[in-house]
Amino acid sequence: MPDLTACDAVLFDLDGVITPTAEVHMHAWRAMFERLFADWGVEPPYTDSDYFDHLDGKKRYDGVASVLRSRDVEIPWGHPSDPPEADTVCGVGNRKNVVFSRILEEEGIQPYPGSIALLDALAAAGTPVAIVSSSKNARDVLTAAGVIDRFPVIMDGVVAETEHLPSKPAPDVFLEAARMCGVEPARAAAVEDAISGVQSAAAGGFGLIIGVDRGAGAEPLSQAGATIVVSDLAELVPSSTH
Ligand SMILES: [Mg+2]
Repeated sequence: MPDLTACDAVLFDLDGVITPTAEVHMHAWRAMFERLFADWGVEPPYTDSDYFDHLDGKKRYDGVASVLRSRDVEIPWGHPSDPPEADTVCGVGNRKNVVFSRILEEEGIQPYPGSIALLDALAAAGTPVAIVSSSKNARDVLTAAGVIDRFPVIMDGVVAETEHLPSKPAPDVFLEAARMCGVEPARAAAVEDAISGVQSAAAGGFGLIIGVDRGAGAEPLSQAGATIVVSDLAELVPSSTH
C-alpha cells in the first residue's frame, strides 16, 4: 500500500469517500415525495426503487421530472430560483434540498470510521488535506459530520460555480484545489469513489489516485485511472506510525 503521509497533500472527494451521503439523499427524497404524493393524491406511492430508477446519479431537477413523469404528473419546469413551495419541477427539487438540510441538521451524519482513521494518521504526520466536492452542500455535510475543521481547503460546488470551473471529469476542480494547497499535482494524492472523479484527478496529473470502491467497481475505477483501489480507507492507515 502506498504511504499517503509521504505526499505533499491529499485531496479527498466528500460524498462516498468521507461520508455515506447517499443515504441522507435517499432519506430526503423519500420524505419529500411521500408528503408530495399524499398532498397531491398521486399513486402508486413513492418507494426506494424510484430512487434507483429515477434519481440516483441524475441532476436534481432532471430526477424530479423523471419521477413525476413515471406517475403521469405534468407540472411546469419553472426556474432554479423558484422557492421550495413552488409547484414546479425546480420548486420540488428545491423542496428536497430543504428536507436534505433539515435531516442533516437534525440527525447528523456519521463519517466512515476508516476515513477518520486515515485523516488522523495524516494529521499526525502533518500532511495537508483538502476537500474536492461537486456538491453545493459540502460545507453542511462536513459540519454535520463534525469534520469541517480538519479541512483548511474546501473546493466545493459553490466555489466551482463562482470561479466558473467545469465539473468532474474535467480536471479543473482538482487542479484549483492543489493550487489552493500550494502543491504540485504530481506530488499530491487524490481520493475518489466515482468514475468521473477518478477521471478528473487522472486528467489533472495527480501522482497517486486512490479509488474507493463503494459500488463503482474496482475494475472500472482502475480503467478510469486509479493507481490502486481499496474498499475502505482504513487499508491505507500506516500500520506503524512510530
Ligand atoms: Mg463521491
